[in-house]
Amino acid sequence: MRERREIRPLEATVTDVVRETHDSVTLTFSTEERPVYEAGQFLTIDPHQFPEIAGIVHYFDHAKARREPPRAYSMSSAPHEPLLAVTVKEEHFSPEQMAFPPLLSPLLVHGLRPGRRMTIVGFTGAYVLPPGIEREADHLVHVCAGSGIVPNFAILKQALHQELPLRQTLVYANKSHKDIIFREALERLERQRPERLRIVHSLSREPEAERHGPGYRSGHIDRAVLEEAIGDRQRCVVYACGPGVTPFERKAARQKGLEPPPRFLETVLALLHDLKVEKNRMHTESYG
Ligand SMILES: Cc1cc2nc3c(=O)[nH]c(=O)nc-3n(C[C@H](O)[C@H](O)[C@H](O)COP(=O)(O)OP(=O)(O)OC[C@H]3O[C@@H](n4cnc5c(N)ncnc54)[C@H](O)[C@@H]3O)c2cc1C
Repeated sequence: MRERREIRPLEATVTDVVRETHDSVTLTFSTEERPVYEAGQFLTIDPHQFPEIAGIVHYFDHAKARREPPRAYSMSSAPHEPLLAVTVKEEHFSPEQMAFPPLLSPLLVHGLRPGRRMTIVGFTGAYVLPPGIEREADHLVHVCAGSGIVPNFAILKQALHQELPLRQTLVYANKSHKDIIFREALERLERQRPERLRIVHSLSREPEAERHGPGYRSGHIDRAVLEEAIGDRQRCVVYACGPGVTPFERKAARQKGLEPPPRFLETVLALLHDLKVEKNRMHTESYG
């Protein structure tokens, strides 16, 4: 029986800030009441609560002519773990491509210390394992890019912890080796449970990725990688998470009478469609 609860604010205290990569951290929180959530769900954080960025938030509320919305962050922790955690990757500012500098992620990545109190709102999201998944599948395929690993890391850990009779294959795209979030933790899980977990790293900016180990390849995720990872399409369930086309990009393209160019998630969905993976065997989470 699943525990249900409404989405509401929780007072949380940062207990640790763990650097994952040069531009990402995991924040662990303690909360006054026990957080009830499922692996793969997210919480939200309202940027208006932080005095450090109050000026820019106020300016953006006016400049963008709408109140800045809360930002969503998937939990990187799974419910069986003792601490609630999110993992945030800093969005970098490139003035040629971005209308505005990113607001909240730089503060979360660089500006918080243990003991910091904040309000989080949670928990929600349908990117979770359905009950009884083992009746319809024996293979979970995770297809992730960058911070898109976060909810899949939680799902992957939960499936291993619950001893679900499922093999798992993670196909994880990054620019380079130094960008891989949870690299050591993932390698440890793969070493501990080789019969259950296999990891394929796809590094787009490393022409000799194989030098990092047998699970590494160079280039973007393509049809061949997915075909090999998925195997039997009738017994797999795919969880794909990463950057998708943002509403801003869609609007800007439409104003020019164009379709926005696909990002990671649209590309993966097109490949899965091409491979004839049924829609009801695909779950997606867009970070657009
Ligand atoms: C369900 C979900 C889960 C997520 N989980 C994670 C996670 O686990 N880890 C993680 O790191 N991220 C996650 N994200 C992404 C996260 O919510 C933020 O989008 C990300 O941190 C960037 O926020 P920001 O405030 O730094 O940047 P923003 O201020 O939101 O800016 C991001 C981009 O949008 C553009 N932009 C903003 N406002 C406008 C505007 N009005 N007009 C035009 N362009 C604009 C900016 O120029 C920039 O390119 C998740 C997103 C979703 C939807």
